[in-house]
Amino acid sequence: MKFDSIIIGGGLSGLVAGISLQSKGRRTLIVSAGQSALHFFSGSFELYNTDKSYQEALKGLDESHPYSKMGIERVLELASGVPAFFSQAGIKLLGSADCNHFRLTPMGVRKPAWLTLDGYVKIPSDGKFPYKNVTIANLEGFLDFHTEFIAAGLAEQGVNARICSVSLPELDYLRTNPTEMRSTNIARAVKGDVLGALAQKLSAAASGTEAILMPAVLGLESPQAAESLKARCDLPVEFVATLPPSVPGIRTQLMLRSYYQKIGGTYMLGDTVEEGLFEDDILKGIRTVNHADTVFEADSFVLASGSFFSRGVMASQEGVYEPIFGLDVDAPSDRGQWYQEKMFEAQPYMKFGVHTDKDFKVSVSGRTIGNVYAAGSVLSGFNAVKEGCGAGVSILTALDVAEKITR
Ligand SMILES: Cc1cc2nc3c(=O)[nH]c(=O)nc-3n(C[C@H](O)[C@H](O)[C@H](O)COP(=O)(O)OP(=O)(O)OC[C@H]3O[C@@H](n4cnc5c(N)ncnc54)[C@H](O)[C@@H]3O)c2cc1C
Repeated sequence: MKFDSIIIGGGLSGLVAGISLQSKGRRTLIVSAGQSALHFFSGSFELYNTDKSYQEALKGLDESHPYSKMGIERVLELASGVPAFFSQAGIKLLGSADCNHFRLTPMGVRKPAWLTLDGYVKIPSDGKFPYKNVTIANLEGFLDFHTEFIAAGLAEQGVNARICSVSLPELDYLRTNPTEMRSTNIARAVKGDVLGALAQKLSAAASGTEAILMPAVLGLESPQAAESLKARCDLPVEFVATLPPSVPGIRTQLMLRSYYQKIGGTYMLGDTVEEGLFEDDILKGIRTVNHADTVFEADSFVLASGSFFSRGVMASQEGVYEPIFGLDVDAPSDRGQWYQEKMFEAQPYMKFGVHTDKDFKVSVSGRTIGNVYAAGSVLSGFNAVKEGCGAGVSILTALDVAEKITR
């Protein structure tokens, strides 16, 4: 079976690469093993953790950083087009390509953010919380949302918070077993007429305050449920991330996937690429677990298989390795250099990943593979946690690689 381009991994990076290539007229296939980091999404994409402008902050990065490989101008040019790119799939993102605003974490702490999903609490770059008096509402029995932590965090920002818990009879069957009272199950139950009842109870409980903050548990497949609730409430409703699973993250993945399929892309879910067929430093095709007898051929390939979390990169007693093709990785063999004793220091292993040249082409034993590019968190050279650049690297390298392939 022949495609123009094959993308390995259907997380944020793979989907962005797939949509970009498909919309540039390439016939593409995405093979995706399973859940991705989006299932743990905070509601905000991060570009870089800084209180300066991105332009200024990115100047000092090491040359092995994916942003340095792209060049700052290119990073910022692509970043400015990201909200429009996502809006094609019906996903509305708010933020700027110049500097950070802040998001509110499930622990009530303010953290820098680049783009935040419409509907989530978004604190402007001056740090001033948009309300003085809010109601933090939880759904009775939901344990993955901690109203007291959020209220304490808001108090430190000078915001008064009233806490309330709303009971919906439609959730009684979930409440009988606490393991069932999870965000994704709530999202399946709270829709249609239930939204009207929820809006009435929220409006009554929040009377006298300026806004309602509630857990992001509405709408697994589209933002419609959240919009419908907002339209029926007397006060503005804003969502705060819950502990995983992330309903808005799963929704984002589903919406990107359905847009990719709508524009003609082929998405193979639940299959794993396990082998590559090479000829003279060119990858000719791949084999997957579920289609062992079929070779999927393409002119170019994008490896977007993620980092340790998604098994795009793995570690054994012998070393760090890339499991599909045995690509070169940037990671020392001495295990003593993998981590810092102090847990909260920047951990060296966070920067481990697949080695690439400046065009994000991968290599095996030092020989560049001419038609295989890597994108997203499988790449080496950045620390998504310390630098707060996970989604920025994933989205922007995917867009960059897609453009390099079509050029
Ligand atoms: C738990 C977690 C939460 C995060 N939350 C945020 C956040 O809120 N905001 C932010 O800015 N950044 C966040 N990040 C950083 C994150 O790395 C990026 O935001 C981004 O989502 C990573 O996308 P990716 O596509 O590169 O990798 P992933 O999301 O890891 O996706 C890789 C995909 O490849 C698939 N795959 C792997 N091997 C194979 C194979 N052999 N064959 C087929 N498919 C394969 C996996 O199943 C997976 O679906 C988070 C990271 C983690 C680990």
